[in-house]
Amino acid sequence: MQSLEALTREATELAQGRPAPHLPLAGAEEAEVARVLQICNACRYCEGFCAVFPAMTRRLQFDKADVHFLANLCHQCGACLHACQYAPPHEFGVNVPRAMAQVRVRTYVEHAWPAPLGRLYQRNGLALALALAAGLALFLMLAAARTGSLWGPAPEGSFYAIFPHGTMVSLFAPVFLFAVLALALGVRRFWRESPPGPASAPAVTEATHNVLSLRYLDGGHGQGCNNADDAFTLARRRFHHLTFYGFMLCFAATSVATLYHYLLGWSAPYAPTSLPKLLGTTGGVSLMVGTAGLWWLNRRRHPLQGDPAQRPMDLAFIALLFLVAASGLALMLLKGTPALAVTLCIHLGAVMAFFATMPYGKFAHGVYRGAALLKWSIEKRAPSKLKLADD
Ligand code: SF4
Ligand code: SF4
Repeated sequence: MQSLEALTREATELAQGRPAPHLPLAGAEEAEVARVLQICNACRYCEGFCAVFPAMTRRLQFDKADVHFLANLCHQCGACLHACQYAPPHEFGVNVPRAMAQVRVRTYVEHAWPAPLGRLYQRNGLALALALAAGLALFLMLAAARTGSLWGPAPEGSFYAIFPHGTMVSLFAPVFLFAVLALALGVRRFWRESPPGPASAPAVTEATHNVLSLRYLDGGHGQGCNNADDAFTLARRRFHHLTFYGFMLCFAATSVATLYHYLLGWSAPYAPTSLPKLLGTTGGVSLMVGTAGLWWLNRRRHPLQGDPAQRPMDLAFIALLFLVAASGLALMLLKGTPALAVTLCIHLGAVMAFFATMPYGKFAHGVYRGAALLKWSIEKRAPSKLKLADD
């Protein structure tokens, strides 16, 4: 068994360029994470910041599965970059958030289903997402124009007078179900790469709580994470919450409306005080504020935090979510006006583009990170294989 002195010595040598030993690693990105974690394992200053460091201390070596697990456990909060005495310009060049971000996207690509579509992660950018949404909206406008319903008041403000309910379901359900299936199969591959053992009820409860509260965006001390500099801020956590819960409320609104339609036979449009409308309005406003805040923070992010190559994918995700929420709210405001059909086409185009890019864009981070947090909640309850101390 290696002592900490031996680890320190090895980390110093690693930082000076000796190739990472003993590791069946896939590529340069995984090797870089293994290198910085060897240094962190000797230092351990950041142990209280997030789940990555306690999980790291249960290992002395980092193979590919370990690196993928730890990379997805990282929330990219930036705390360990701003606290690190070995961060650039130090010769050790320890930048944990960037190294983790570069491996995370490799995890998505490698586990993507179907595998050839994994390449879309590298192409998914703001221009592509907006062009896709605009193209789909234009296609729907042309379809509405053919039936003469593109401009003018729709009877009772009903969307189904513009696109019949059956047409909407046949267009959207397959894309949505494909997205869910692709994400589920991808995350199953990630889970099987390093299965942590059976999940107990306390582990599931803890992981669910950590996901829903975004626990590790509090910096480990409750004052928040870092964004533009070494000052702590809770803004990222709050805007993430507004985005996440806004999205969930919009999803709940659609689910309730579906139950109304199929179980109770109540067709849209619903009254402003109905449950689907209340959920949708609250969710839409929350989603707009949350995504606007995330965009603002993203543009101000410290240049060393995260992977600059993934910024276009991040912004594409934020922009599509904002467009979905804004066009959805505009639909309510423009009900009864001649612009309803055009607005509906823009909204449906944005929703379809969001569904289509969901399994091959930033949305994946929530799913993979949730799985990594559950892995960690299971692993921490198992005896440490190192047997250095009681866990
Ligand atoms: S990030 Fe830096 S300060 Fe933190 S544990 Fe690693 S080497 Fe130490
Ligand atoms: S960036 Fe934040 S979440 Fe990621 S390893 Fe560092 S402290 Fe943990």
